[in-house]
Amino acid sequence: MTRKIFATTALPYANGSFHIGHIMEYIQADIWVRFQRMQGNEVHFVCADDAHGAPIMLKAESEGITPEQLVTRIGSERKKYLDGFHIAFDNWHSTHSPENTELSQDIYRKLKAAGLIYSKPIEQFYDPVKNMFLADRYIKGECPKCGAKEQYGDACEVCGSVYAPTDLKNPYSTLSGATPVMKTSEHYFFKLSDKKCVDFIKQWLDKPGRLQPQVANKAKEWLEGKGDKALGDWDISRDAPYFGIPIPDAPGKYFYVWLDAPVGYLASFKNYCAKKGIDFEKFLADPKSEQIHFIGKDIIYFHTLFWPAMLHFAGKPYKDPDQINVHGFITVSGEKMSKSRGTGISPLRYLDVGMNPEWLRYYIAAKLNASVEDIDFNPEDFMARVNSDLVGKYINIASRCAGFLKKFDCKLTAGPAHASVENLQKHAGQIQTAYNDREFGHALRMIMSLADQVNQFVNDAKPWEIAKDPGQKQALHQICSQAINAFRLLTLYLKPVMPELARNVEGFLNINSLQWSDASTLLADGHRINEYKHLMTRVEEKQLDALFEIEKDTPKVTASTPHPATPAKSGVPPAPQPAAAGDGTIKIDDFTKIDLRIAKIANAEHVEGADKLLKLTLDVGELGTRQVFAGIKSAYDPATLVGKLTVVVANLAPRKMKFGMSEGMVLAASGEAPGIFLLSPDAGARPGMRVKYI
Ligand SMILES: [Zn+2]
Repeated sequence: MTRKIFATTALPYANGSFHIGHIMEYIQADIWVRFQRMQGNEVHFVCADDAHGAPIMLKAESEGITPEQLVTRIGSERKKYLDGFHIAFDNWHSTHSPENTELSQDIYRKLKAAGLIYSKPIEQFYDPVKNMFLADRYIKGECPKCGAKEQYGDACEVCGSVYAPTDLKNPYSTLSGATPVMKTSEHYFFKLSDKKCVDFIKQWLDKPGRLQPQVANKAKEWLEGKGDKALGDWDISRDAPYFGIPIPDAPGKYFYVWLDAPVGYLASFKNYCAKKGIDFEKFLADPKSEQIHFIGKDIIYFHTLFWPAMLHFAGKPYKDPDQINVHGFITVSGEKMSKSRGTGISPLRYLDVGMNPEWLRYYIAAKLNASVEDIDFNPEDFMARVNSDLVGKYINIASRCAGFLKKFDCKLTAGPAHASVENLQKHAGQIQTAYNDREFGHALRMIMSLADQVNQFVNDAKPWEIAKDPGQKQALHQICSQAINAFRLLTLYLKPVMPELARNVEGFLNINSLQWSDASTLLADGHRINEYKHLMTRVEEKQLDALFEIEKDTPKVTASTPHPATPAKSGVPPAPQPAAAGDGTIKIDDFTKIDLRIAKIANAEHVEGADKLLKLTLDVGELGTRQVFAGIKSAYDPATLVGKLTVVVANLAPRKMKFGMSEGMVLAASGEAPGIFLLSPDAGARPGMRVKYI
């Protein structure tokens, strides 16, 4: 039975560019959608920019443009990311659209008719200069408990107490600096606490296959919360000025952005239906249709409580969501992404340095499963998986065997299928189940282990030796034809993950676009393939170096010390070059800008995968401990370094290297002759002491 699916990813907020977390989510959903299409299922895959709310309004204001202009600008840069990573949404729309206004207002009217909307006055901080009500994040003041200054309106970062913004002492608006005043305003609420809502959500959560168990449990916890944690009604209105959708019959009131954002899924779908001649309402009304959302774990609350309740009680033509698939976050070398520290991977930079987008698709797929766990991008692991799995195991099969087929006019011969080829066919069902259940890592492990069997077959059959013996021509033809059949099946199974590569292979094999049902067939006797051309290159170390090169905008040591370049080929990070005067000399000032300190090597260890580097943990006295990578592996056994004193450049901006953060540099001598010699002070120097001119 074919499925009818309407699938979405979470709507990105339109105040900034995509980061690697967005790209991961889109890759996950895109693989799943492509897989479903290969089954012959009907899938409509849409997304949109989440365009409303105060942050966008204020950002636009600070840039001197309208919110519409800001949203249009951000929206216009989406395509290069999506095309770049082969993410094939059918439609990209915006929540600032006629469809979204119409649908949000319609849902609101229906909820109101169902008795689930009410209004009541709310007392709230108001900025008398900006003439607007202030969300908690725009209010700061002194903590009512410990008196710490500059604390936000919800919690104190110093003592950890939680409070209401009205509890702050000496509050001020972060927008204007003005002292906010209390003002009353009528707010509209969605009555989530209504028994019929709670009962509905309970049974919605309980349906098997709808949510991952840990997600359903979390939602139930919220739903059944008592006392302080009891499920409250949902404040869905905001006062003008607000960039949003007007609430019908309520002048000056707008929907809170979280009400109209998920409606944007439907708005984008409706916009797409109009373009494609699909009946939007009929699609939703069809009991066979499935509405499936991919989201991150940070927005479970909205998608498992409000969203299903809103749709359910709005009634026709809306349908309850059928499945919410939640994923974790992506970390880089075990560290949470942080823009300010310059860590993380820039998706555009990845493309700009010429890295193959399908390497990343493969790597992310290999790490993903159906759980909510975070996944980690580790550069060494990335390189190993792409080079050894994709190139070494998979591409290798075609590159080793295709050339010999030229002797046979590039025509294949049929014959009894080799056991490894049969085994590939037998696994179609298991791989299918894994993809369908979003167990992509499991699917790829199966595929690679099947590729191992094929490589074993080729290794044993040794076509390169048989080719020298004219008497074995037929055997050679058999072996290479079987290998090409195996390569076709592996390509079929990898196609959801690597669509572009699969397209190139389809061209090479001279076949139609591969569908899942093709797994049961082999290429016919006499089928002619095209000449083999190189299909995929290996990841090179220098590409990863370029990817992780510290961002240009990272704070520099000082204005006059240019930022050090990427580690040189030797792996020895180059020392900073103080700005030279015209004659190559520097001033005392230039020299004193470098904070040189005595450091004690508290620990030294090898770095897995690094040829030249040792990881040093330095005790820098009053400055604490520092982690530094030093290109001294060829000269020192780590064990002999522990306890030694050396000199470190202590005020170098931390930089993200492939293996982790490096928070300084140690000094060593080297010259034409081999050898690297770490500097160390005379006896008596203590960790943390300054190294200066005397
Ligand atoms: Zn406090």
